[in-house]
Amino acid sequence: MLEVIWKHALLRFTSRFILRAMSDGFSTWLEIDLEAIRNNIRLLRRITGTPIMAVVKANGYGHGAKETARACVEAGADWCGVARFEEAMALRKAGLNCRILVMGYTPPANLKNAINNNISLTIYDLELGETYPRMIKKSGGSLNIHIKVDTGMGRLGIRPEDALKLVEDLSACPGICVEGFCTHLSKADETDRFSTLKQLEIFTLLVETLQQQGMRPEIVHAANSAAALQYPESRFDLIRPGIAVYGLNPSNESPLPAGFMPALTWKARLTSKKVLPPGHMISYGGIYTTQSEEQIGVVPVGYADGFRRVAGEQVLLHGRRVDVVGRVCMDQCMIQISDLSDVQIGDEVILMGDQAGESISADEIARRWGTINYEVVCGLSNRLPRIYLG
Ligand SMILES: *Cc1c(COP(=O)(O)O)cnc(C)c1O
Repeated sequence: MLEVIWKHALLRFTSRFILRAMSDGFSTWLEIDLEAIRNNIRLLRRITGTPIMAVVKANGYGHGAKETARACVEAGADWCGVARFEEAMALRKAGLNCRILVMGYTPPANLKNAINNNISLTIYDLELGETYPRMIKKSGGSLNIHIKVDTGMGRLGIRPEDALKLVEDLSACPGICVEGFCTHLSKADETDRFSTLKQLEIFTLLVETLQQQGMRPEIVHAANSAAALQYPESRFDLIRPGIAVYGLNPSNESPLPAGFMPALTWKARLTSKKVLPPGHMISYGGIYTTQSEEQIGVVPVGYADGFRRVAGEQVLLHGRRVDVVGRVCMDQCMIQISDLSDVQIGDEVILMGDQAGESISADEIARRWGTINYEVVCGLSNRLPRIYLG
């Protein structure tokens, strides 16, 4: 046991060292701890006792889709879920051979590619239930599909009253294998349980009826992160966690249990500092003016990186919380650092993450921006270099 701990510590130490060398050349970058992601997958598995589809849409919620997907599979996820067909293809091209489900619309032009690459598609509309079989009859092969029912989300999904017939019809279609049956919950992350229980009741009844008629597809699924953690009855054969995989809370009302670890840290280096006289304007529009002699620093992060152009932003420097002053520009912003001494160009600035006991979470940033942590991490621009640890 001791040896394992020692090995792990050594590994962490070496990877931190390598990491430092990797980030040497960047002025701002993201560090993604893949061991945190593996930890979160293992925890989800332990808590729910259910196989996992790791949702890695939108570039793995900004964390990098293929790296995240690989870590999830290493930690025991059987499936990856994505929103779009091209996201699925990118995973296959990166060498991932886990099962993959496209949860959104796949234009029929991709059907052959879906079959050849063993990518499962979702049929959530009666029209697609006719188009796909017709197209496949022409091209041959066998397509795996999941049928999605709208039990209350009002987004994708056939009406519950159409579900049994569609499962029956598609099950009889040559070239179509109905492997999944699913729905999506709209309020699983809220305290009020009423509508989630209602959705689950509608869905469960359908599943039971399919079972009785000998038509129950192999994989029934409904749970996002919040549901997987809070509603054991939503787990069925597979859970579809996204936000929990990244160690972020589904909502304030549905925080993660202890043990989950946020995987992402956003860093930058101070690029300039100077002392300005009283009455000096800072940034476009001069909405901030120095009150007295003030030390002002420049951080090479702006709205083109996904750092919003709103008032009230803060970052960490030397383990202290400091205010962003003046407008956030496209690639840069200014910080008020009069209280700090010995500040040097190159010093590490944290936009999201921990520094010497102080911490800025994705939730805190979301609060500043009037949005949810999902949008914060998904909005991290592709131009930010991503460095993987673990
Ligand atoms: C995004 C998504 C998920 C994951 O939701 P989280 O709240 O991030 O866990 C699951 N299922 C579907 C259909 C989704 O679109």
